[in-house]
Amino acid sequence: MKHFIQGFFWLGAYVFVSLLPLFVVFIGARPAGRDFVTELSVALGFVGLAMIGLQFFLTARIRLVEAPYGLDVILRFHREISLAAVGIILAHPALILWRDRSFEIFNLPAQPPRVWFATISTLALVAIIATSLWRQVLKLEYETWRILHGTLAIVALGFALGHVIGVGHYIANLWQQLLWTLMVAVSVGVLLYIRVFKPLAMKRTPWRVDQVRDEGGDVWTLQCVPEDHEGFDFSAGQFAWLTLSESPYIIEEHPFSISSSALEDDYVEFTIKELGNFTRHIGKVPPGQRLYIDGPYGAFSFERYPAAGYMFIAGGIGITPIISMLRTLRDYGDTRPLTLLFAGARLENLTFVDEIEELKQQLPHLQTTYVLEHPPDGWDGEVGFVDAELIDEHLSDYPWRNQYFLCGPMPMLINVEQALMEVGVSHTHIHAELFNLV
Ligand SMILES: Cc1cc2nc3c(=O)[nH]c(=O)nc-3n(C[C@H](O)[C@H](O)[C@H](O)COP(=O)(O)OP(=O)(O)OC[C@H]3O[C@@H](n4cnc5c(N)ncnc54)[C@H](O)[C@@H]3O)c2cc1C
Repeated sequence: MKHFIQGFFWLGAYVFVSLLPLFVVFIGARPAGRDFVTELSVALGFVGLAMIGLQFFLTARIRLVEAPYGLDVILRFHREISLAAVGIILAHPALILWRDRSFEIFNLPAQPPRVWFATISTLALVAIIATSLWRQVLKLEYETWRILHGTLAIVALGFALGHVIGVGHYIANLWQQLLWTLMVAVSVGVLLYIRVFKPLAMKRTPWRVDQVRDEGGDVWTLQCVPEDHEGFDFSAGQFAWLTLSESPYIIEEHPFSISSSALEDDYVEFTIKELGNFTRHIGKVPPGQRLYIDGPYGAFSFERYPAAGYMFIAGGIGITPIISMLRTLRDYGDTRPLTLLFAGARLENLTFVDEIEELKQQLPHLQTTYVLEHPPDGWDGEVGFVDAELIDEHLSDYPWRNQYFLCGPMPMLINVEQALMEVGVSHTHIHAELFNLV
């Protein structure tokens, strides 16, 4: 309920701030002799500008804002709403072009600086959208893209404000000046928070890699201990961003689910599969290596959703948040019915399988089913993929009383979600964690 109210509040705040320029700019004197199309175009420009300004706030990983939704939902919202914001902003010049029935505005050398500012801002916005939608096609490395994304966003907002000042309407009275000053102050403040104050705070809470464990199947567990501080509390299933460096100011950081129990006070663990440029070297991280942990984030946790029982469905390395939940349920001495469906390509991809079987001694109502695409000889578990039929077989008698946690590859998540909804499980009881936020 707390999260629902908070979620509702932030959504209301978002709509309010997006529309704020409309209330503020139109309370003062209006420029004389302007028609409806011009005023509509200006209104759209202002709303779009406020929406773009709010993107800085959305992506700043502010825990109070993230908590009710989970960071993945916030980032998805950021993606969708940014497209809408750019659409609204593009409608601003489009209406002016339509009103004037003239393309003179494109004759840039003949135009005043305010038109230049608007053009640069618009081009920056279009570049943001293009590089985000087609990052992989353009072969942009994730870190390069992140720097470009942030820089273009600052350019777009800065030049848009330059355009507003250059046009000179709606900046005359005190309220209007307050609005624009506040907008600039909040955007600069958020940037300073992300790039300066947050790393500074993290510098005071460094961590150290204490152990690196080989889990088999190219998967490694990093056990991390806080250096001279208390660490942090988290809910089982949440994740954090790791920066493996002496300095928290470097741009490269990666999100990983915490795999240890939430009741473990001495350390946190991350279990990581070798996949790409960064993770490929994870097994070679030397014990003693300093790191910084930005977290916890996310809403993917049984601790948020009280229920008669839980069903966990994991694919491959998607087991990491789920093993954290199982370990935590064990530490709580939980006696509710728990079901785990765990799928992988081969046996070595079922990380933690021995430990999960041992957990049954302390979790008396834990039932497990393993599904392999390529089983070894003598395999007596399931073969193939987690599909509707398999889900059906393992559902409890009252499936709608349970909560469901899914983490794995996208096709699996889609199939499982559909299968659960077909047997009457409400979508509000289905929680999925995606490992590709971008
Ligand atoms: C919430 C969440 C929890 C995760 N938990 C785990 C886990 O427990 N264990 C595990 O092995 N993996 C986990 N991942 C996936 C892991 O973050 C990525 O595999 C890793 O960041 C990519 O690094 P790489 O070296 O494998 O690939 P790279 O070669 O560095 O990049 C390959 C692709 O991965 C994506 N990527 C790269 N860096 C980032 C970044 N900083 N943030 C987001 N995406 C990025 C980009 O799409 C990039 O193109 C999780 C991801 C998320 C979003």
